Amino acid sequence: MKKIAILGSTGSIGTSALDVVRNFPELYEVSFLTANSRTDDLEKQIKEFKPGAVVIKDKLAAEVFKSNTDFKGIILAGEEGLIEATKNFDYDILLSSLVGFAGLEPTIEAIKRGKRIALANKETLVAAGEIVVDLADKYNSEIIPVDSEHSAIFQCLVGEKTEDISKIILTASGGPFLNTAYENLKNVTVKEALNHPNWSMGAKITIDSASMMNKGLEVIEAHWLFRMGKDKIDVVVHPQSIVHSMIEFIDGSIKAQLSLPDMKLPIQYALSYPERLNKSYTDTNFSSIKNLTFFEPDFKKFECLKLAFDVMEQGGAAPCILNAANEIAVEKFLEGKINFLQIPDVIKSALYRIENYSDPELESIIECDRLTRELLKKEMN
Ligand code: NDP
Ligand code: MG
Repeated sequence: MKKIAILGSTGSIGTSALDVVRNFPELYEVSFLTANSRTDDLEKQIKEFKPGAVVIKDKLAAEVFKSNTDFKGIILAGEEGLIEATKNFDYDILLSSLVGFAGLEPTIEAIKRGKRIALANKETLVAAGEIVVDLADKYNSEIIPVDSEHSAIFQCLVGEKTEDISKIILTASGGPFLNTAYENLKNVTVKEALNHPNWSMGAKITIDSASMMNKGLEVIEAHWLFRMGKDKIDVVVHPQSIVHSMIEFIDGSIKAQLSLPDMKLPIQYALSYPERLNKSYTDTNFSSIKNLTFFEPDFKKFECLKLAFDVMEQGGAAPCILNAANEIAVEKFLEGKINFLQIPDVIKSALYRIENYSDPELESIIECDRLTRELLKKEMN
């Protein structure tokens, strides 16, 4: 029996993970759950999964929750509550599925305890990749990717050596604006941007998919997870999202992992690895799949993807600045304060003005994140 702690249990990944847990009551139990403010959903999860504790990040929501609930377990609040839970509570696997930079510090606490990390929160590796993978090595903590592309690579690597990889090929759906002309991107609505063709996900990653920043973040994520140079990571647009990613080996052989899209598959694998569990969520029928197509991404139209490659080249805290600026830009786009094409402009303006650090410690990463947010929020209110 494994005890699972879920950061962000009320989100898209969190609820899919609880679907997996529900299917295997003999294998998994829930240690603690966390939400930001959706406490009604959390209450339902408590009733069904009976965690020993919960953390509610929004302190006001936590106060209201405490006065209304009959939950007898521990209730913590705020960022400090997330740290305390990951640092001190009893669990075997941490599913890191908060959205954004907020996931970094609690994930690091779990790594320092040598826990398995089922990692959905890509921002953790984008902002502080080197620090995180070095700590994972030091404390013998396994990071098993949940992101479908990285899970695909991870699955293709079973039985292989990383030195035999000649190239990682990350597939990208291209999002809802794959066929929209550049000049029309300025006028796309929030609703259109939130309408992803293949995946149903939280708002932030859905906008990242529309701008292709998501693929940029995933290139950086792959760079750290698999310790692969930038020149060995390719992106190919594959609108059907059936080939989840590929590896080309030094002998020219290519391995891919395929299925109809469903995040429960990589989540389940990250929990059960190295075993596979006998529960399938998809029925991939090749005779009903008409086409699997692949083509090059348009770096001019999707400038965010190019910016992600650029910051990887710059290194240091540049990816952290890009990540923080992107989080603010996406928030402002969702609020209707900027248009879609201003997202990369906001990021460039932050990269230009916030000083980079060449070999940042965790403290400098946290400071860069804070400074970037402070600068942009002041200007964009
Ligand atoms: P959602 O927005 O659906 O869920 C986010 C979760 O985090 C919710 O539980 C939310 O609580 C909580 N949360 C939000 N902000 C904060 C905060 N500042 N501090 C603490 N908790 C917070 O996101 P997704 O599930 O879509 O994505 C989660 C992560 O997984 C992201 O990093 C994303 O990039 C990654 N990912 C997601 C995929 C997907 O298919 N959804 C695929 C691959 C990666 P509340 O509900 O109360 O708001
Ligand atoms: Mg992905």
